[in-house]
Amino acid sequence: MKKIIVAKNIGFCFGVKRAVETTEELLYKLKSLSTVGDVVHNPLVMEKLKLKGLKVYNSIEEVKGKFFLIRSHGLPKNQIEKLKKLNFKIYDMTCPFVKKIHYLVEDLSNKCYTILIVGNKNHPEVLGIKGYGRNIKIIENKQDILKHKHKKLDRVAVISQTTLNFDYYYDIVKNIIEMVKAKEMLVLNTICKVTEEREKESIEITKKVDTVLVLGGKESSNTKKLFKICKKECKYCFLVENFSDLSKINFNNFNEVGIISGTSTPNFFIKEVIEYLKKIGYKEVS
Ligand code: SF4
Repeated sequence: MKKIIVAKNIGFCFGVKRAVETTEELLYKLKSLSTVGDVVHNPLVMEKLKLKGLKVYNSIEEVKGKFFLIRSHGLPKNQIEKLKKLNFKIYDMTCPFVKKIHYLVEDLSNKCYTILIVGNKNHPEVLGIKGYGRNIKIIENKQDILKHKHKKLDRVAVISQTTLNFDYYYDIVKNIIEMVKAKEMLVLNTICKVTEEREKESIEITKKVDTVLVLGGKESSNTKKLFKICKKECKYCFLVENFSDLSKINFNNFNEVGIISGTSTPNFFIKEVIEYLKKIGYKEVS
């Protein structure tokens, strides 16, 4: 029998659900709402929000209107101040887990720590976190650590982007400890547990099936991370952002299909994919 195994931890995470549902409610009430960058990294969700009146700008300098929404990734503090001075009414949908890191960075910065954020230099969450303290450096890879090798630092704190893979973070931290000379070094695990659970479940599912569909946006960090993890375990692993991606896959040789998703993948898309598979002969098992 051809089966589908669907992950238990699937669809929007808590932070994304909160941001998307509030955006929809606000659009219904206010009719127009502005933001900078995608509220979530998923084109299907963004298309729907834009149709409902969401205006997405590239930078704070370009923003127009009266109402502004801070996306789940957060925004640097100085940009929020700027918007307040321009009399925008601000709705803050920064995920509470990310907000917690903002408070942490402010506190560490006040205590004169040099803060190393391990993460993607261009990711909005990392840029947002950077905006809550002084003396902050972003470490994307081992090469970036070398820049701090010969500096004599007093107090150093290391934190991570929420969607980072733990093994990757651990490896970078080991290198930081070896290379950076500091009188005191504080290492904090700020990886979001939701993404860690998805990683674990994805590996379990990947071992049971012939092919894995990782549903989610191609710009979504956690979707890309899940795809990378599954690809290591399973040769036939596909990142599916939309129906066109799905229709290109030849399912003839696959008996068991695993379905997992990033944290910004909407339920309606997951259901559509399952329906499609059922139509071509699969049965949903779990
Ligand atoms: S992945 Fe975690 S930190 Fe990111 S929005 Fe979801 S709950 Fe918040």
